[in-house]
Amino acid sequence: MKSQSKKFFTRAEKKIPGGVNSPVRAWKSVGGSPLFISRAKGSHVFDADNKEYIDYVGSWGPMILGHANANILREIHRSAANGTSFGAPTLGEVELAELVSQCVPSIEKLRLVSSGTEATMSAIRLARAFTHRSKLMKFDGCYHGHSDGLLVKAGSGVATLSLPDSAGVPASVARETLTARYNDLPSVQKLFDRYDKQIAAVIVEPVCGNMGVIPPDQNFLAGLRKITARSGALLIFDEVITGFRLALGGAQERYKVKPDLTCLGKILGGGLPLAAFGGRRRIMDLLAPLGPVYQAGTLSGNPLAVAAGAAMVRQLARHGTYEALEAKGRRLADGLNSVIRKHAMRATINRVGSILTLFFGVDSVASVDDARRCDRQQFANFFHAMLKRGIYLPPAPFEAWFISLAHSNADLDRTISAFDDWAGRSERG
Ligand SMILES: *Cc1c(COP(=O)(O)O)cnc(C)c1O
Repeated sequence: MKSQSKKFFTRAEKKIPGGVNSPVRAWKSVGGSPLFISRAKGSHVFDADNKEYIDYVGSWGPMILGHANANILREIHRSAANGTSFGAPTLGEVELAELVSQCVPSIEKLRLVSSGTEATMSAIRLARAFTHRSKLMKFDGCYHGHSDGLLVKAGSGVATLSLPDSAGVPASVARETLTARYNDLPSVQKLFDRYDKQIAAVIVEPVCGNMGVIPPDQNFLAGLRKITARSGALLIFDEVITGFRLALGGAQERYKVKPDLTCLGKILGGGLPLAAFGGRRRIMDLLAPLGPVYQAGTLSGNPLAVAAGAAMVRQLARHGTYEALEAKGRRLADGLNSVIRKHAMRATINRVGSILTLFFGVDSVASVDDARRCDRQQFANFFHAMLKRGIYLPPAPFEAWFISLAHSNADLDRTISAFDDWAGRSERG
């Protein structure tokens, strides 16, 4: 019998391109057709056939407290009862801005937007206006949303300009983006040697989450700080994944490097559309209406999203949050690693706190090139085998698994045994 998800997907494909509103949801890298999710609670999601799964997608990052958290729901309901959008300032926005600035001290001022894409796009415009320079440097394999200038890939050779990574991005726009290699300071220095005073900013995921989890080498972030400061370029941390995930103050707290501008999203909205960019006061004050940089949004600082976000941040600020996340991350990674050893599999796990990626067919992953060498077919087999055993993983090999505070030891241990069971069966053929 056809599953409800399959039926819904056939219907979806008729009206929505590829049946989805964001491409990775379509399961193109693992094959098959996606589960339709009907509800979720804590660490578990339920599909349209009411089958239950332990969830490691976590809406791709936001659900760090687990799904349908009672405090967040209460705040959303309370806020909704007072009206859902006014297009005028609200006290909630001010309180959330104060709260974020307290958690992330490099953010002296910030502006709320509705998506991570808007946050990075606006931060870059601001950096260009502040420095009176036009070029932007990013890293091959880092993702910063889908604005034109950020959808570029590295050309051949490091000291080259970038090529569009999507149809519809003009080559003239891509030319303003330079691409360096993550964890490779000489590749950054080389571009600065050549383009120094043209480079407005370097944007980086301080811990990569979008080529799988890749932690920064010792000195990489500090090196970026040094090189940008020397040139007068701005350093932008895209903490859309890492913000409130790796510490209350994000990766910049964990690695003790202070960027000029920071982009936040995902967790910040508590599961509603909310993101932010912020940083040094002198830079932020260039924004309209104070300054000449235009940036706006009808639903920016939406009261529901702000209420959810404030409830989220307040809960995360409670004592013990990040120790608990660290312990859960360690328990899962240790368990998966012991399965890898037991079955002598060629695979490796990268983990920082509560995000991790299991790469098949490689011994270690420190760069996007290492990540690209991983065995995608084995990941696809693994993904479907885990799904059958009630574990819902990100449906692509280069993604982070997101662990939440709602994941119990039993959830984590069941995940490890499912992996062990699959590894044993694939050994026996
Ligand atoms: C998800 C993500 C974005 C884009 O955020 P959206 O809300 O999807 O537009 C930007 N940067 C990073 C690092 C992300 O992971």
